[in-house]
Amino acid sequence: MAKAFDVIVMGARCAGSPTAMLLAREGYRVLAVDRASFPSDTVSTHLLHPRSVNALARWGLLDRLVTTGCPPIHTYAFDFGPFTIAGAPGMDKDAVAYCPRRTILDKLLVDAATEAGAEVREGFVVEEIMIEKERVVGIKGRSKHGGTATEYAEMIVGADGRHSMLSETVHPEHYREKPPLCAGYYSYWSGLPTDGRFEVYIRDRRAFAAMPTHDDLTLVIAGWPYAEFAENKRDIEGHYLKAIEQAPDFAKRLRSATREAPFAGTGVPNYFRKPYGAGWALVGDAGYNRDFITAQGILDAFRDAELCAGAIDQSLSGTRPFEEAMGEYQRIRDADVGAMYDFTCDLATLEPPPPELQRILGAINGNQAAMDGFARLNAGTISPTEFFAPENIEAIFAAADSRAQKMNA
Ligand SMILES: Cc1cc2nc3c(=O)[nH]c(=O)nc-3n(C[C@H](O)[C@H](O)[C@H](O)COP(=O)(O)OP(=O)(O)OC[C@H]3O[C@@H](n4cnc5c(N)ncnc54)[C@H](O)[C@@H]3O)c2cc1C
Repeated sequence: MAKAFDVIVMGARCAGSPTAMLLAREGYRVLAVDRASFPSDTVSTHLLHPRSVNALARWGLLDRLVTTGCPPIHTYAFDFGPFTIAGAPGMDKDAVAYCPRRTILDKLLVDAATEAGAEVREGFVVEEIMIEKERVVGIKGRSKHGGTATEYAEMIVGADGRHSMLSETVHPEHYREKPPLCAGYYSYWSGLPTDGRFEVYIRDRRAFAAMPTHDDLTLVIAGWPYAEFAENKRDIEGHYLKAIEQAPDFAKRLRSATREAPFAGTGVPNYFRKPYGAGWALVGDAGYNRDFITAQGILDAFRDAELCAGAIDQSLSGTRPFEEAMGEYQRIRDADVGAMYDFTCDLATLEPPPPELQRILGAINGNQAAMDGFARLNAGTISPTEFFAPENIEAIFAAADSRAQKMNA
C-alpha cells in the first residue's frame, strides 16, 4: 500500500498542531485531522505558564500571540485568607505568562502547522483506526463537508484528548491512575481588572482563580471537591458565587463586574498511559492527564509535541531504533511530570494544607525570594522536588526565624 503520508496526527489543538508543525518542519509528509473547524473553543481555561510561552518563542510563534493583544501576567498571587503569597512565575527572559482564548491560541497553532507544510483537514472525524498484523497503519474517517477517506502512514499520533479513540483502540498500559478529584466551572467577566495578576484564592474545600484574557475580560474559575460534582451541577452559578463569597473583597469586585458568557466546566481523571507502540504514539491529554488545578495541560502538551516529534524523527530517519527513541520520550515525560502530578493531585482534593505545609507557607510569607519560588513551583517553572528540597525549606525557615528575631529586637 503506497502511503501518502509519513505521519498522521489525530487532533489539532495544543498537542496535535505543534507535533504536526515540528515534523513538517523536518520535511516529513504530515496530515493532521480534527473534527473541529478553527477558530474553535473547547472546555478549558487557558493559562499559559512561562515555560509554555517559552515554547511559543522557540517555535517563532510568540510575536503572533502578543500582537493579538493578550495581556501579559507578571505576578501569581495565592490568597490563603490570613495572608497572600505573591511572586513572579517566570525567570529572566521567560518572565511572564499569558491566558489566550483557545479560539485564538488553537487557531494560531493550526495555522503554524499548515504554514510548516502539514495538510490540516478540519471538520474531519476519525471513525476507525486501521490495524494490520497488530500494527496501526492508518485512519478511516468522514468529512463534515461530505465524503469518507482512508489514509495510511508510518506513524499515527493520537493528539485526540482524554477520550482518545487511538488509545481506546490500542489499549496502552495505564498507570498511577486517580479518579477525578475536583470539579471546576468558569466564565468570563468584564469590569474586573486584575492588573496583570493571576489571583488564586484557597478557602475551606473551595478554590477559585482569576486571570486576565483577551478583550479586557477576566476568566474566573471556581472549584469544589469532585464528590460534590453531581449535586452542585443543579445550581452551578449558586455554588460558584458561594465559593467566591468566602473571599469578601474579591466577591465585592465581582459584584460590580458583568458576566459575559455562560458557565463551562467539568472534572477530569488523572492517569499516565504508555505513549507508544507499533505504528502509534500518544501526545497531550491522550497520553497523560492531571487535574487542571495547576493549569499544566498546555505546557505538558507542548513538551510532549517536542519530545514525541523528536523521537519519531529519530525513528523514521533511522538514527535510532523506534523502541529506544520512543522509550526515551516516555521516560523524559514521566520524569518531568512525576512530582508535579503528585503535587497537583494533592491540591485537587481541596483539603486544607497539612500542618507541615502550613508551617512552610507561613515561613514563605513575606520572603520575596521564597514567594517567587512558590509562584514558580505552581507555574511548573521549577519542580516540587526542587522547591521542597530539604536545603530550600531549611533556608526558608532560617530566613523566617531571622525576620522574627529582627522584629522582636
Ligand atoms: C476545566 C479545565 C480547565 C483547564 N485549564 C487549563 C489551563 O488553565 N491551562 C492549561 O495549560 N491547561 C488547562 N487545562 C488542560 C488543557 O485543556 C488540556 O491539557 C489541553 O487542552 C490538552 O490538549 P490536547 O491537544 O492534548 O487535547 P484536546 O485539547 O482535548 O484536543 C483534542 C482534539 O482532538 C480532536 N479529536 C478527538 N477525537 C477525534 C476524532 N475521532 N476525530 C477527529 N478529531 C478528534 C478534538 O476535536 C480536539 O480538537 C484545563 C482543562 C480543563 C478541563
